[in-house]
Amino acid sequence: MADRALTHSLIYSTETLIFSILALLLLAYYRGLGRQYVKFWMISLSALAVNQFALACENTFNERDVGSVLDISIALLRQVSQYIHILFLIFGIYAATKQKNVTRKMLFIGVSSALLIGIFAAVFYGFDVKSVFNRFYLRESLTAFIFGSALIASAFYLFSANINHFSGKIFLAYCLLVGLRYISYSFASIIFLTEDWFRELSQTLVFVDMGVNTILGFIFLIWMQGAERHVAATAINRAKYLGKHDSLTGVLNREQVLEKLTNEMKISKDKKQALCVFLLDIKRFKFVNDTHGLKVGDLILGEIAQRLNQSLLKPKVVGRLSGDSFMYVIDYESEKQQSTVAEHLHALIERPYLVSQQEVHLQCSVGYCQFPTDAEVADELLQKSNLALFQAESNNIQTVKYEAGMQSHGRHLLAMEKEIRQAISNEEFILHFQPQLNLKSNRLDGAEVLVRWQHPTKGLLAPGQFFDDIEALNLYSELDNYVLEKTCQTIAQWYKTYKRRVPLAINITAVEFQAQNFISNIQALLIKYEIPPIYLELEVTENVVITDIDLVMNTIVVLQNMGIKVSIDDFGTGYSSLAYLRKLPIDKIKIDRSFIQEVASNDSDLTIVKTMVELSHGLGKRVLAEGVETQQQLQLLRNIGCDAVQGYFISRPISAEEFTKYLKRK
Ligand code: C2E
Ligand code: CA
Ligand code: CA
Repeated sequence: MADRALTHSLIYSTETLIFSILALLLLAYYRGLGRQYVKFWMISLSALAVNQFALACENTFNERDVGSVLDISIALLRQVSQYIHILFLIFGIYAATKQKNVTRKMLFIGVSSALLIGIFAAVFYGFDVKSVFNRFYLRESLTAFIFGSALIASAFYLFSANINHFSGKIFLAYCLLVGLRYISYSFASIIFLTEDWFRELSQTLVFVDMGVNTILGFIFLIWMQGAERHVAATAINRAKYLGKHDSLTGVLNREQVLEKLTNEMKISKDKKQALCVFLLDIKRFKFVNDTHGLKVGDLILGEIAQRLNQSLLKPKVVGRLSGDSFMYVIDYESEKQQSTVAEHLHALIERPYLVSQQEVHLQCSVGYCQFPTDAEVADELLQKSNLALFQAESNNIQTVKYEAGMQSHGRHLLAMEKEIRQAISNEEFILHFQPQLNLKSNRLDGAEVLVRWQHPTKGLLAPGQFFDDIEALNLYSELDNYVLEKTCQTIAQWYKTYKRRVPLAINITAVEFQAQNFISNIQALLIKYEIPPIYLELEVTENVVITDIDLVMNTIVVLQNMGIKVSIDDFGTGYSSLAYLRKLPIDKIKIDRSFIQEVASNDSDLTIVKTMVELSHGLGKRVLAEGVETQQQLQLLRNIGCDAVQGYFISRPISAEEFTKYLKRK
């Protein structure tokens, strides 16, 4: 008898060692992978190690008194560790298969139940010397029953989750077999407890369990490797797919759209058919983003893409051109068909979108033109549909078909081009400066440079009044370079007169960020005006960063290495996910004005801003809030830990002269 107890305590001690090592191995995996299920299985194995340790003690001190401190402690350790082991085994399975994290609430409920049942099983009848059987039922039969049921349930769950890697199947078999073993043991222990053969069987089971538990440890390891390989494979496939498709909606991106359209044009030409190119722009989509959040906005955009793709009219091309504008191309026979298609498109878009049990209603504007009558190259078709769409939007008409007269807008642009180029060479564009206040030090961080047009006849114009033309004419590059040089001049000049350099932030358009000589140009300016790079900051708007992530990312890395700061402007208005943020080596995030406007009166906006601040800080980035107009907003932002603010409450954008006065006053 004593011999046997010694053998058992040796076995259990060995197992304690094995599971501790396996748990450590999982810990190493967890450090690398950071997946929740790995953590849970690590806890599960640690609990198993504790459990085996308790069993080793039980066999070592097998002559202890019932109800003694030693007896109760061992029982407690055994019971609680056993329940924790099975609980985290199951949590791990859930987290691994659902790709979803177990919530704190679930954890709390699970752990407290495991503790309660464990304590109950150990303490109830634990002091009563005579209740040998009751104690046994509670500590052995009940435990085996719960254990077995949990494993069989897990087997069914794994079966329904349909895991296709190999370890999933072994795991299923494991849960089923071991589950059956415990369930049958539980019943047998109630009925045959006093029989000799049952006792023999229980003794043998110790060896079986040793093997079985060790297998479990290895299943965990194999699973993790299989799952991670699977994740890597899907990521690679997804990356390939994203190269061709719009990451958000799964439809073709702008470049692809144009390529496919060109293709379809060739085919139609051969078949002597005509195409109709529709552009759709969702109205007030920003409102959806603002009220329901970006995630919902993304989902809706995805749904729109799907509806267009699956439309009964069998479109030749469907794609997303930018934020909330889509292209939809069909071939047609009679002109009458065209307006029917437009109606069909409106109906598609206007069908309600179901978002967390709430209906969202949307409308769109449609502009279209036809091939080959209106144009014979893809770019031009796009441009003409765009002109029609522009008319639809600005006159609030549902659908507009392109007409030759719309070109008059073109004539306006032609005149503007001359005017703007002249304004640049005459230095009619001037800089205004809006101070940025550091909330931690209560000092000025610097200022944002905002361009104004001192127009000879129209007076001082804000960007909103001429940027549409600049965009249409593709003159951003000229303007940005102009502002860049003027800014460097200003920093140098202030240094000369006031012996003080003020950090200035400039808005840079996307296009510019991707230009070949952008970086060398900046470098040349910094040298020419003898400006240390830390005094220059570049603001890129969020939308842009996301569409050409690789290119922009490279540029940002180079700028960063040069010592120039880069920040994300208008944060929260783009269609990007916050996940991108982690990858971008930027210094600062500027939360868009629209969130700040309501921050003092709207709880959900406050929550959003708070989350943005926490998230950005978590990623080691600074946060500036734009458009602060009241004391109350300022106070709230200070309270939630925002680093800096900018807005009318601090100061409006002011001229260079006023700004230097402002500096002196401070
Ligand atoms: P932004 O970069 O978001 O600049 C902030 C805008 O918000 C400025 O408008 C500023 O006057 C305004 N603003 C600042 N504080 C408040 C406030 O408390 N309340 C309200 N309601 N508005 C506030 P602005 O000067 O009209 O510029 C508009 C946009 O034009 C800028 O938005 C920026 O995207 C662009 N922009 C301005 N200057 C340049 C430039 O030199 N180059 C480029 N590429 N873009 C520029
Ligand atoms: Ca800005
Ligand atoms: Ca902004």
